Amino acid sequence: MLVVLISFFVTRNTVDRELNIRVDDYASITQDLIDDELKSSEDNLWAGAGLLNSSEVQLTNEEWSEFYEQSGIQDRFAGVRGLGYAEIVNRIDLSDFENDYDVAVYPESENSVTANVVYLYPNLGNNRNVLGFDMYSNDIRREAMFLARDTNEAFMTKPTVLVQRSDATGEPELGFILYVPRYTRNADRETLDERRENIKGYVYSVFTAKDFLSSALLRQSDDRFSYQVMVDDMVLYEEAEFAEMQTGDFQEQVISSTLKGVDFDIRYVYNPSEILPNSIRSQPVSVLLIGVTGASLATFLTWLLLSNRNKELLLEKERDINDAKDSLLSIASHQLRTPATGVKQDLGMVLQGMAGDVSDTQRNFLEKAYESNDRQLKTINDVLYLARLEAGRIVLSKTKIKMRTILYSLIEEMHDNIEENNHKLVVKAPKKAVYVWADEHMVRMILENLLSNAIKYTPEGGKIKVVLRKSKGGIKVSVEDSGVGIKDDQKDEIFKQFSRVGNSLSKSVSGSGVGLYLVKNLVEMHEGEITVESDGENGSTFTVYLPTNKPIKT
Ligand code: ADP
Repeated sequence: MLVVLISFFVTRNTVDRELNIRVDDYASITQDLIDDELKSSEDNLWAGAGLLNSSEVQLTNEEWSEFYEQSGIQDRFAGVRGLGYAEIVNRIDLSDFENDYDVAVYPESENSVTANVVYLYPNLGNNRNVLGFDMYSNDIRREAMFLARDTNEAFMTKPTVLVQRSDATGEPELGFILYVPRYTRNADRETLDERRENIKGYVYSVFTAKDFLSSALLRQSDDRFSYQVMVDDMVLYEEAEFAEMQTGDFQEQVISSTLKGVDFDIRYVYNPSEILPNSIRSQPVSVLLIGVTGASLATFLTWLLLSNRNKELLLEKERDINDAKDSLLSIASHQLRTPATGVKQDLGMVLQGMAGDVSDTQRNFLEKAYESNDRQLKTINDVLYLARLEAGRIVLSKTKIKMRTILYSLIEEMHDNIEENNHKLVVKAPKKAVYVWADEHMVRMILENLLSNAIKYTPEGGKIKVVLRKSKGGIKVSVEDSGVGIKDDQKDEIFKQFSRVGNSLSKSVSGSGVGLYLVKNLVEMHEGEITVESDGENGSTFTVYLPTNKPIKT
């Protein structure tokens, strides 16, 4: 009996440990995603500090807005409300400063040093009220700014009520402000004293907490977990299913982490039976039952220990594979994508003449570098999606979407590419709106891949035709080109991972062989279908069918 009980406890510990590992794995990805989002935003801020210091003279508002547009920040971060700069001024110099920047500093205070917002873009609505605001006058902001100043690193405020923004109901919204310091040009900043002496201002970005967290975490959601994100016991974001999941045999785990100076608690709820398969979870009970019945005790125990060991080995192997996938995911996003995005921004700014005049020869080289970097980013993104797909981390976030709008905006985006290749484009879509219930981001990705392939695999001056139509219980979009075509024996190959099937153009155009594999998987995740037609010589037609899964009320 003693042996049975020992086996019971040993097995139960293994199961508990396994459960903790799965939850920890999930939690570490959640933190990585928030961190990743912040890191990319931080890169923008350092670029802003660099821009301010690259110029001998004060920047104009236009230059700041150009920098904002160039950074692409508004497309990448759903929660970002603005990119700003606050400059430090001694109170006695305030009136000169107000003249120079044409702002009125507020609120009144006795502080001898002020840090006033002089640029904030987009310069819209309530954002305009922020110009002239002395950020040092607010304790929460000042605390993060001082930390950034003293360490020469990025720091974020605790969630705070944003001055400029209220939500649709007019209620004030909670947000974060992320700061990086800007020191006087060429001044020393090695020691704490030097950093305090030479601080000149702060470049910052403002996020609304809810939008920022939901966009950072959107791609990770996994039905088996639900979570709340808290700071100082204040709930900033909660998944829609959070309350629902707290029923039955649920467990919870709070995992804390500090990101850019802010302590986040992420509270996960889950049902253990959904995390570990029943066969593993019921192991401890099986041990007990088998022991108590006593039948062929010795034989059973030997079998049990061996099978347990086997299962443990299998679990270990599965965990190793998952770990490897996770680190690939993390490496791809942090170590490759973030710096590559930084390169794109910096090159973009130099090309725009923000660092001085660019000669024709220099422009030529810079443009080549920009294009190579763009291709590199595309490949990184493809691999990143592939890793997420393989790890089961792509979960669709479906809404009612208007196909025509997506199609036309995509065509607009790809217009330059189509023109550069002298292709003629024909688009046909029903006049009446056509809706599907789908993940907008993913549908865009599907169509973008098909269109970009049609452009790539069609020699200059070709014809591309895109047709959107209603089809039984859903819609069909076909992308037809007059390109090199696909042979019959290649029609299955092209949908496999890393399959770059040879054709007369495949050597001269870039690609990773991942696009169509992703497209097929995404279409199938929507319970749709993709087909290809081609006689092998005269162009190809890819057709995607997407069902209207949910009854749509119009
Ligand atoms: P890639 O990054 O190589 O373009 P894809 O997965 O998108 O990867 O496509 C896989 C292969 O399918 C391509 O290498 C190409 O040989 C073929 N292919 C895709 N689209 C077309 C098309 N419109 N016309 C001809 N061949 C195509």
